[in-house]
Amino acid sequence: MKLLDGKAVSARLMEEMAREVETLSVKPCLAVVLVGDDPASRVYVNNKKKGCEKLGIRSLEYTMPKETTQAQLLELIDALNEDKNVHGILVQLPLPKHLDEKTVIRAIRPEKDVDAFHPVNVGKIMIGDFDFLPCTPAGIMELIAESGTDLTGKECVVIGRSNIVGKPMAMLLLHKNATVTICHSKTRDLKEVTRRADVLVAAVGIPNFVTADMVRPGAVVIDVGINRLDDGKLTGDVDFEAVSPIASAITPVPGGVGPMTIAMLMRNTITAAKKQNQ
Ligand code: NAD
Repeated sequence: MKLLDGKAVSARLMEEMAREVETLSVKPCLAVVLVGDDPASRVYVNNKKKGCEKLGIRSLEYTMPKETTQAQLLELIDALNEDKNVHGILVQLPLPKHLDEKTVIRAIRPEKDVDAFHPVNVGKIMIGDFDFLPCTPAGIMELIAESGTDLTGKECVVIGRSNIVGKPMAMLLLHKNATVTICHSKTRDLKEVTRRADVLVAAVGIPNFVTADMVRPGAVVIDVGINRLDDGKLTGDVDFEAVSPIASAITPVPGGVGPMTIAMLMRNTITAAKKQNQ
């Protein structure tokens, strides 16, 4: 079994990107907007800022109170859209309930949408002609490449159909000529489907959801889940102890997909800066 060490792969990619940033005529700049005081969001924003620091990317943080109105948030996004020194804009999700995420995402100019959540960028991904890839699926593709798997003709099963992970993940696998199945909460006989997978991606949000009997021996298993247990420990969606002996490669949690997500955000920010200064 090969452990797909996202920490090590992301560190390598970050070093390469740091060298690239040094050669750029413009210093890339990422604006991160955080509304409210959700502790998990705070951790994610801090990690993104740290990623920027490591690479010599300028990061701007805008922390807004949870009572912020839609108009106030849109006004900030507008100002960031207009600011030529800002290349990437990221609004940390989820937003407080009174704010409309769809409208907020649509307000970000597609060329600054480094999360690749804007419908224009989603559409570009669909047709395979894109500038940015959504960070988590893009990071997973890097890890699958690291496993040495050629996806052509392979059976890939994605559990989860969110716009952030499941759906774009399936599309990226399809672009690499895999045969892709998306499973979700209404899927009948899930185990029967997952057992066919040469590559199994779990993005469910339930600890130990994927058990050994759901996995085909020799499969590559990608665990996207980040679940906090009562004792404070982080765990994924896969029963790592039981599944790792039968998988040919597997990602740990933490230290698998998570660090790759940050590296891909940095890559998108660099791409945005380069494209806006061509
Ligand atoms: P989500 O809640 O939007 O989607 C969960 C999906 O799981 C849904 O599509 C649902 O249909 C499916 N599901 C739920 N119960 C199921 C069941 N019993 N059988 C089959 N499918 C079922 O979640 P998301 O935003 O896609 O995130 C999924 C997990 O990945 C979460 O733990 C999240 O924290 C984590 N995540 C990690 C990263 C990272 O960088 N590592 C990034 C994004 C999300």
